Amino acid sequence: MLALAGYRLGERFCFLDPAPDASAALVGRHIAAEYDDRSALDDMARSVNFATYEFENVPAESARYLSNFVPVRPTPDALEVAQNRLEEKRLFEKLSIPVARYEVASTDEELGAAIANIGGDAVVKTVTGGYDGKGQETHEVSGRGRPSLAALDADVVLVEKRVRFERELSMIAVRDQHGNLAFYPLVENRHQDGILRMSIAPAPGVPAALQELAQSYAAAILDSLAYIGVLTVELFETKDDLLANEIAPRVHNSGHSSIEGSDCSQFENHVRAITGVPLGSTAPKGSAVMFNFLSKLPNLAELLTIPGAHVHLYDKAPRPGRKLGHVTLVDVPPGVIEKVRELVT
Ligand code: AMP
Repeated sequence: MLALAGYRLGERFCFLDPAPDASAALVGRHIAAEYDDRSALDDMARSVNFATYEFENVPAESARYLSNFVPVRPTPDALEVAQNRLEEKRLFEKLSIPVARYEVASTDEELGAAIANIGGDAVVKTVTGGYDGKGQETHEVSGRGRPSLAALDADVVLVEKRVRFERELSMIAVRDQHGNLAFYPLVENRHQDGILRMSIAPAPGVPAALQELAQSYAAAILDSLAYIGVLTVELFETKDDLLANEIAPRVHNSGHSSIEGSDCSQFENHVRAITGVPLGSTAPKGSAVMFNFLSKLPNLAELLTIPGAHVHLYDKAPRPGRKLGHVTLVDVPPGVIEKVRELVT
């Protein structure tokens, strides 16, 4: 999606992706090698004027290595922070951005004590996810069957108070090399089994003060990292607070609807920022709803007959929990949204 947006601006793309059947190969040159393969990174450095990443498990070391030869935007520092939940929390705290109460545990005794201190209702998260593509894990705890560090395959974990949020929101923001900032309206996100199922953009019923508060969090993070590109802050809206959960140093699934729903999509704005051309307008064109195709594809023949249904397929083989594509609807009647919801679930 970055390449599709960038092509129109005259950019050409080269992708490093270990998957031999990477879908990005459809829209640019594909180097099929591990992310830490030095000769592949050298090849990439010779081929491009700028490098970026759109997956937070790319080793920060590889991004640093590339930055010896070409500008890597966003900075590899952002990748490093996003790969370590503790560093991420410390950044939020340094910037006075509120987070869920948490404790750090590096022994089973500390883990038990932390869960008790938090009040039993906790989410235990590994601090790092490693580079095996599994990502960071969330473990819910409800008094019984407490996890051990060995079971979590972790040396250190965060024990977070479970937030009774009203809803989950995301703030997608972009910063250029001169420090200019642009913000998309907050997006409302609904998850199923920890995976994004649908998004509504702009999130309905957001007072100006909430939008401004979310923007102030994003601005503080972007400026503190001297960030160039799109960054997403995942948020919990509670009755009387707006807590930061985590950052994604990249374009975000909750921003996919910006392709049809915004003047300039998150993808185009990321390309604009990293290549050093002026940012585009983040104004919404209407109310956008996006549904992910998870695990299996919907009946496309039927979906494609629906006026206003913008279908995107990623050319990925079906697998449980895998995101295979999405559909976006902008300013369509509620009945059409319901019909699409039925088709995609
Ligand atoms: P994360 O891996 O931090 O992105 O968490 C994935 C999902 O788990 C979030 O989108 C939330 O739905 C849920 N979650 C994570 N942390 C908490 C928390 N402290 N309280 C309640 N839900 C959480």
